[in-house]
This record gives sequence, structure tokens and C-alpha cells, in this order.
Amino acid sequence: MKELSALAQSVRASTTVEIDSKAKSMRAAGIDVIGFGAGEPDFDTPEHIKQAGIRAIENNQTRYTPAAGTVDVRNAVAYRLKEDWGVEYGLDEIAVTGGAKHMVYVTLKTLVNPGDEVILPAPYWVSYYEIIKMVGGVPVIVNTTEETGLKMTAAQLKAAVTPKTKALILNNPGNPTGMMYDKETLQAIAQVCVEEDLYVISDEIYDKLIFDGKKHTCFATLGEEVKARTILINGVAKSYAMTGWRIGYAAGPKNIIKVISNYLSHCMSGTNPISQIAAVEAFTGPQDTVEVMRQEFEKRRDYLYERANTIPGIHAVRSEATFYMMINVEALVGKTLYGVEIKDGDDFAKLFLEKGLVAVVPGSGFGAPNYVRWSFAVSMENIKEGLDRLEKFLADA
Ligand code: GLU
Repeated sequence: MKELSALAQSVRASTTVEIDSKAKSMRAAGIDVIGFGAGEPDFDTPEHIKQAGIRAIENNQTRYTPAAGTVDVRNAVAYRLKEDWGVEYGLDEIAVTGGAKHMVYVTLKTLVNPGDEVILPAPYWVSYYEIIKMVGGVPVIVNTTEETGLKMTAAQLKAAVTPKTKALILNNPGNPTGMMYDKETLQAIAQVCVEEDLYVISDEIYDKLIFDGKKHTCFATLGEEVKARTILINGVAKSYAMTGWRIGYAAGPKNIIKVISNYLSHCMSGTNPISQIAAVEAFTGPQDTVEVMRQEFEKRRDYLYERANTIPGIHAVRSEATFYMMINVEALVGKTLYGVEIKDGDDFAKLFLEKGLVAVVPGSGFGAPNYVRWSFAVSMENIKEGLDRLEKFLADA
């Protein structure tokens, strides 16, 4: 048999999806594992959104829709963006597909020629790195440290630009870091993007899950020149507890959205209409459930951060947003636990799952080898139990 595509074979499985599947299959086998891998809210989709989906089926709204999404869903996206950030997009500046992840893929497909460089601050969400490779691009990693809050500076961005740089992927607020850029830093980053003629894929999927009374800055609001080069990505998964409905969108310049739509017409034929109708309800209906979830995530963040930092051998980096926290395990590197030498966060995560029966995402897939990511989109009861297990796991080692 002839060889498979070399490019496709170079793509690694998603560590976030993998760890979640592993924890679920261990649980199905009767093993009492607690999973902190998944980046998905433990809340159910709000009732009024579910009812909109049920009505869609009952009304036989089950056929193909336009490649870029129905007029209703694009209007709903435009409405939400105007309400939330005062930023205006027309119908031909918005496209909808099956999840923000798919939209990141299609957007990169639209922008990148083989060999083009795409700048990615680390720690980064695992899929950005692989998707850049999947479209033939070259990921250029900008490493950050806890001193700058795991955030990239404008000077670091400037230093990473070469004549081959096509775009920057900025995930703000960030997965897996839980960090959020302030407006001044974003302005400085935006200025570099304008000076160096870079496109910006601004993934703002966690824009509603922000703590400590801080405010999100939508990248496209930083000026007309900035908006003209920004492809804003967002969706319903995280803010409305709708991960499985698979609705994500891009808002950006007409010429880019046109190419995205052409592409979607071949690889999507329009997104599931039931989910699009539910998304219209999410974007235009009551927004109170978003705040209820946000407050709960903030309580869990506080608890996880405080308690994790009382445990010797690790330290937690305080999240400002999202439902993720980075746990730094560098102090354990070189130590032997349960007869195994810990060389990095991946070794730690593997052992913690085997001996502690707790699943966290190993950091290497995020470009953060000495960390693991702990999701707090999990009940407080499980967070407490997980921390009890972490204490015992380290104490008994
Ligand atoms: N974005 C979530 C995570 O990071 C869901 C899984 C995925 O799509 O990677 O866990």
C-alpha cells in the first residue's frame, strides 16, 4: 500500500481530547477517576436554548442552510458583538461553522500559503499548533514566563516577525493559561501587527468568563486599521454551555469571509440548522445564565488557587479568566515518585492518573512542558476531592 499523507501523519492527536477520552473510558471500566481534563462547562445548556433546538426539530428546520450560516444566525452574531463590544459587522462579514475549532482551521486555510509563518505565544492551546501544520504553515513559538503572567509582550512579537510571517494567533482570554491581556498591552501588540502587516486571528471564545471585575477588550475595537486585519473567532460552547452543539463563527473583512464561505461550501454544506437556531436563542435571548456560570467559575478558581498553593512541590498560577489553571510542577522534575523519575509535566500527569486517579492535561501539548492544566469546569465537590487526592498522591510518593 502507498504511504499516507506525510503532512497528515505529522499531526498529533489532541492532548485535551485524548486525556478526556482516557478518563471517561477508565470510568466506564469502573475505575474511580476524577477528570480535570475537559475544557467544557459542567452546566447543562440553559433551558430556553434547548427549547429553541427542540422547536427547530418539530418545525422541520432540518435541511441544508447557506454555507456561511443562516441569515438569522449571522444577524444574531452581529447583534451580540454590537451589544457586547460596540463593534459592527455586516452579514457578509460573518461566517458560521461547526465550532470555533473548525473556524480556526478554515481561517488558517484561507490565510496561509505553504511555508508561511504563524506566530503563536506559548503556552498555547494544543490545536493551534497542529492546525498551523495541517495547513502547511510553520508555527513560530514565542515563549512566555510567569514574570509576564504567561503573556507575550509587544517587543517579543516584534522580535519574532520575519519576512515570512503571515499572522498571529492570539487567544484572549487564554487557554490553557487562564490569562487575560489588558488593553494597553493589546494596543501595543496591535500596533506591531499594523506596522508589520500581520493578520490577527483573535480567538475570544472565553470573553465572558472573566474574574475580579476585569473587562475584556475585543481586539477588533482597537481601531479601524486593526479591525481590517483581524479575524475574530468566537462561538457558543463556553459561555452558553453548548460544547456539543458545535457552533463557532468568524467575523472579519469581507474578502476573507468570502473565501471562508467558499471553502465551507465544499467542506461543510452549512452547519447543523438545529444548532444554528439554538445559537440564535443563545446570542439574542436572556443572558443571565452566563453570569451565573461565571460567578461559579470564579468561586472555584479562588478555591483551587488558594488550596493548590498550600501543597508542597507544586504551585498554581492564578487564572484571571476561563476555567483553566496552570499548575507548575517544575520543582518535582528530577525527583523520583513511586519509583518513576519525573522528567516533565507529562510524566507527572501520567503518574497522577495511574496512582492518584486524577486526570489533568499534560503541558507538552501546550508548549509548556513543566506544567499541567487543571480545568475547574468541574463541580466544587470534585475539585475538593481532586485536591485531596493530589495531597495524598504527593505525600505517599
Ligand atoms: N477547548 C477545550 C479544551 O481545551 C475542549 C477540547 C478541545 O477542543 O481541545 O479542553
